[in-house]
Amino acid sequence: MKKLRNTEQRKIILEELKKVNTHPTADEVYEMVKKRLPRISIGTVYRNLELLSKCGLIQKLELGCSQMRFDWNTNNHYHIRCIRCGKVEDVPVETMSRFEKILEGKSDYEIIGHRLEFIGLCPKCKKELKDLKEEKQKEFRKEECSGLQEKINRRFR
Ligand SMILES: [Zn+2]
Ligand SMILES: [Zn+2]
Repeated sequence: MKKLRNTEQRKIILEELKKVNTHPTADEVYEMVKKRLPRISIGTVYRNLELLSKCGLIQKLELGCSQMRFDWNTNNHYHIRCIRCGKVEDVPVETMSRFEKILEGKSDYEIIGHRLEFIGLCPKCKKELKDLKEEKQKEFRKEECSGLQEKINRRFR
C-alpha cells in the first residue's frame, strides 16, 4: 500500500516537472507538487527527485549556482544561466560531441560526457540594467549640468 503511494507521488512529481521549462530547484518543485499533494513533505520531494535522476528519468543539473536544479529533458543539451537573477534556460545549439572524441585520443580516461554552461544576462536583467544605467547617466548629467550652471552663475555674478 505504501509502495503504491510512493509510486503515485513520484508520478505526480514527474508530471509537475514536465510542465515547466524553468529547471526548477527542489524547493520550487515542492511548491508545484504541494498544490496537488498538500501533505507531501519537502524531504519526500527531494528524495524522489534524487531517485528519478538516478534512474535517468530526469536530469539533475549541477550548475555554477549554489542550488541544484532539475530538468525533465534528459537529452544532452546546454544551458545558459543568468548571473543576475539565476534563471536557467536551454540554449539552441547542438552539443559538441566531437570534443569528447578529441579528448579520447589524448586522455586515458573513458569519456562518458561533458558539461558546458553558458553564463550571461537574461533579456529582462539586460533591460533592467540598461534602464538603471540610463537613469544613473541622466542623474549624472543633471548633476553635471547644475554644477556647470553654478559655475556660470558664480562667474557672472
Ligand atoms: Zn536575469
Ligand atoms: Zn534543460
